[in-house]
Amino acid sequence: ELFLKSIHIQGFKSFADKTKIDLQPGMSVIIGPNGSGKSNVADAVRWVLGEQSAKSLRGSKMEDVIFSGSSSRRPVGMAEVSLLFDNASGLFPLDYEEVVITRRVYRDGEGQYFINRTPCRLKDIQELFLDTGSGKEGFSIIGQGRIEEILNLKSDERRLLIEEVAGISKFRLRKREALRK
Ligand code: ATP
Ligand code: MG
Repeated sequence: ELFLKSIHIQGFKSFADKTKIDLQPGMSVIIGPNGSGKSNVADAVRWVLGEQSAKSLRGSKMEDVIFSGSSSRRPVGMAEVSLLFDNASGLFPLDYEEVVITRRVYRDGEGQYFINRTPCRLKDIQELFLDTGSGKEGFSIIGQGRIEEILNLKSDERRLLIEEVAGISKFRLRKREALRK
């Protein structure tokens, strides 16, 4: 089973300072007043997993994920988020006990992805997660207000979602790629 051990956030949305969120096995709950950054944590996780839509991250352009300053802080030039996964079970087909996925973006739009601090393509990260059933469209992240949306999905859309959660979509993806060749 996939276990997210910690989330490292720096310069992403309201998190100007380097912030580390440790998680325990089982259920974790983030609580706090309105506007304190709870949804920003969920946004950070989806962002690392490759979310490309600024709108779905509640902004209008990708630059909006970079800390834009406050009354007491200057804006920063870069947002970086890392997810540290336990890989003792070998769920990720990588020969490491821990796997760190990182995404970075600069104000000029330049961005980078890393797996264990080695630069990679977004596609490499997507492939890694397709195998685990926890991609960005996975059931594991349901945004504020999305429950109703999921209940209202058309049956074929709901099937796509369930297929991703079940780890089946990689076969669809590979079939599509194979047919294209
Ligand atoms: P609620 O309980 O209302 O859902 P929440 O804890 O989920 O609140 P978030 O939506 O995570 O709150 O955080 C909103 C805050 O994040 C706002 O104060 C907003 O100004 C701040 N914020 C969002 N993007 C940025 C940014 N790029 N730079 C600085 N602050 C930002
Ligand atoms: Mg919220």
